[in-house]
Amino acid sequence: MESVRTTPEGATTIKTKEVKAFGTSAADAPLNQLNIHRRKPKPHDVEIDILYCGVCHSDLHTARNEWHGTVYPCVPGHEIVGRVVNVGEHVKKFKVGDLAAVGCMVDSCRECDYCKEDLEQYCEEGNTGTYNSPDKYLGTQTYGGYSESIVVTEAFVLRVPENLDLAATAPLLCAGITTYSPLKHWNVGPGKKVGIVGIGGLGHMGVKIAKAMGAEVIVFTTSLSKVEDARRLGADDVVLSKDEEQMGRYAGKLNFILDAVSAQHDINAYLSLLRVDGTLALVGAPEHPLPVAAFSLIPYRRSFAGSMIGGIAETQEMLDFCGKHNIVADIEMINIQQINEAYERLLKGDVKYRFVIDMASLKR
Ligand code: NAP
Ligand code: ZN
Ligand code: ZN
Repeated sequence: MESVRTTPEGATTIKTKEVKAFGTSAADAPLNQLNIHRRKPKPHDVEIDILYCGVCHSDLHTARNEWHGTVYPCVPGHEIVGRVVNVGEHVKKFKVGDLAAVGCMVDSCRECDYCKEDLEQYCEEGNTGTYNSPDKYLGTQTYGGYSESIVVTEAFVLRVPENLDLAATAPLLCAGITTYSPLKHWNVGPGKKVGIVGIGGLGHMGVKIAKAMGAEVIVFTTSLSKVEDARRLGADDVVLSKDEEQMGRYAGKLNFILDAVSAQHDINAYLSLLRVDGTLALVGAPEHPLPVAAFSLIPYRRSFAGSMIGGIAETQEMLDFCGKHNIVADIEMINIQQINEAYERLLKGDVKYRFVIDMASLKR
């Protein structure tokens, strides 16, 4: 199909293909089937038939406009694995039939200092998110992985380790890199005591990766049902965070804490667990601000930090690291028609530990 699209540069004719997707038309509407357009591959593009897509809590925050700025219709999904079905003439890394993956970004300016340093997630112009970002080609928003296929410029497409289960690899593309990047940046490794707070999709990957990096890992969870299970994931100790006595055992003891909680919680209770010069990095992004007391930071020269996903080169490094250490997500497979129910369960912390959509269900 050929359609005239108004891009940021003006009206232009671009060849597109209509594909099935699942998305929402308003913050309070359920997700439903809809059709979207994908551009026909340009010389540097890779077209991927999507096989599996992970369900990140950011999909839910965005679909329901909890961070404000969602443009509808919104098609979430940024933990994408699939098979290459078409490549542009200049594509070098991929050929038809290869497995390929796409994470949270599909482009960036590629010229600013951050892009040149492989930190595209912090691009000065703002990276192009896999969904809910202005689409440079079509003039619409970008649409994510809850869809039949996606077309992405080669530089933002990742290679998938051959030895890993494909469906369980999908969550690495966001939950994996979002935990790997800060764990590496803050030098987590042997001799370090590391706390992981909130054992959902991100948190459970954080446990596996921190353990593979050689750290001593302490899990903090609000869920009784995850206490036993966290040891299976690799935790050296588990703290039920509602229990003050259990929390007290780690006061002033941890070098680093990764906080992956999706909702309001008392951040000061966790800051108090850091040693002198320790850092708590927030990757969880609750809708409302988290108040920090000055005296949670001052007496121990503590740092309160944040971290956003990871760059493309680092995402490939993480995938290769997971291939080498045989790390994938613990998943519960769903059909796309179950996505609204899955969101409700996500809100209750009721998933061990990542929903992955079998995208074949969209074609049925
Ligand atoms: P998830 O699977 O829903 O996990 C969140 C976990 O937080 C839950 O499993 C639960 O762990 C804990 N939790 C939930 N509600 C809580 C409450 N009221 N009080 C205390 N703990 C609570 O979510 P996810 O996909 O891992 O994402 C986690 C957060 O990271 C989201 O806000 C998401 O948007 C954000 N995120 C950020 C980035 C980034 O670049 N920084 C990237 C991806 C996602 P327990 O049962 O163990 O307590
Ligand atoms: Zn995500
Ligand atoms: Zn840039």
